[in-house]
Amino acid sequence: DRLAMSSVADAADRRPLRLFFIPYFASSHLIPLVDIARFLAARGADSTILATPCNAALVRATVDAAAAAGLRIQLLEYPFPSAESGLPPGVENLSALPPSECDKIDYAIAFTRPTLEHLLGLHHPDAVVADGHFPWTIDIARKLGIPRIKFTALGTLSFCVFHSVLANQPFKNVTRDDERVPIPDLPHPLLLARSELPDFLVQDTVFGRLMEEVREADKASLGIIINSCTEFEGIYLDYFHRMLSIKKTWLVGPISLNDSESSSVGVRGGGLDPAAVGNRARCLSWLSEQKPSSVVYACFGSWSQFTGEQLREIALGLEASGHPFLWVLREADGAEWMPHGFEQRVKWRGLVLRGWVPQVELLSHAAVGAFVTHCGWNSFQEGVSSGLPMVTWPIGTDQFIIEKLVVERFRVGVKASDSIRSTTDPNRTIVRAAELARAIGSIMDAGVAAEGTRRRARELAEKARAAVEKGGSSDKALNDLIEDIYVWHDNKRSAAGKAVDI
Ligand code: UDP
Repeated sequence: DRLAMSSVADAADRRPLRLFFIPYFASSHLIPLVDIARFLAARGADSTILATPCNAALVRATVDAAAAAGLRIQLLEYPFPSAESGLPPGVENLSALPPSECDKIDYAIAFTRPTLEHLLGLHHPDAVVADGHFPWTIDIARKLGIPRIKFTALGTLSFCVFHSVLANQPFKNVTRDDERVPIPDLPHPLLLARSELPDFLVQDTVFGRLMEEVREADKASLGIIINSCTEFEGIYLDYFHRMLSIKKTWLVGPISLNDSESSSVGVRGGGLDPAAVGNRARCLSWLSEQKPSSVVYACFGSWSQFTGEQLREIALGLEASGHPFLWVLREADGAEWMPHGFEQRVKWRGLVLRGWVPQVELLSHAAVGAFVTHCGWNSFQEGVSSGLPMVTWPIGTDQFIIEKLVVERFRVGVKASDSIRSTTDPNRTIVRAAELARAIGSIMDAGVAAEGTRRRARELAEKARAAVEKGGSSDKALNDLIEDIYVWHDNKRSAAGKAVDI
């Protein structure tokens, strides 16, 4: 009883945890980590997000809205190392570079270390939550005597596949890079071709060279925060803990679902940039005129890039599907793609936009009925959370692994193409319009198979919703995370006490 009393008293005495967050320079890492900072602030923490000016601008509206609602949350800006890294001023995010040059962003990271070390030393938070691209934050945390927590933008299955590929070398005796082979030790069969692996596993990249350091930092961290939920990826946790020697995992997703009702969903990741605000208005107005579940929404993440030839096939495929469509192109996508007469032919049922749109908000719009996705990890979570059937069109990094979850494990989508493609050369195999149109038809049209896919998608969304609700697995994981940081400090204090006693 005395023990129980004292722990209640401790809880009452507890001051808010001061947490510092270090996001990577990519929207798909920045957006969810800012969300986590907000969710922890909503649970009483005092959250500070360290971001460079251009990245801060993308999330300022979201952070300001949370602060205005009474949460303890703020941005702390630090300069991007433009001069040291040789990147032009204003280029601070993957989306500002062609995918072939994304290494330059990883190269820049090393130059942020002195500044981040200085800021963390100055403010001395209770814990640092750092993106996996900053493995050396473990050394800073050690010096400061605080725990480091890693945030990964990867899913649990992707993590396991990377490890299994490195540990088992299943491609050792495979001569062709388009031959699919089994990936060992996973809880279910999974076949991949070498050409479908992330670039950093098959080529020399700045991030690839850091892999050992990243693994060591993972092991030494208090644990890893993952944008997933046990309902989706609980079956991989055994491999994860056993083979990767990770101490703890907190599966806190789908993060976007936690947020889909919030007032900041319309500015998510695009901030108050006038082009993004304009795109949002156009999308919402156009969608309001469409029938329920009729629209195919196609978007390929925050930094993909297609050639004109591939864009033309996408355009013709969307047209040939016969369904209304909302298609989002990136700024960097080729300009010479418009098929002859396309605009005129689809003007009543197609909206094509370039730039940023509020994807989470659009996916939950009643008019949207299907999602053509590149299978980025965030997009996967967001599509599943919206209960939409998907057409999968992986391009790079871990997206071919995520496609397996959609198509084989959960069976909530179909592939855009059956041909084997390449992460390092996305344009090696062009996906044809007829393939895309067929794939869209097979999830949107009538028929037992399509209805089955749509039903499973709705059921999976229910599971996701249950995970983030109060008392659900992801809600509990966020509470556990806070508790685990307090316990770390309690243990540190009592260890220091014992040392004095001795
Ligand atoms: N996103 C968005 N609007 C866009 C493009 C992307 O809101 O116009 C968001 C999308 O909702 C997701 C993130 O950007 O949260 C992209 O992350 P993902 O992991 O899917 O792909 P990546 O950008 O890393 O390829």
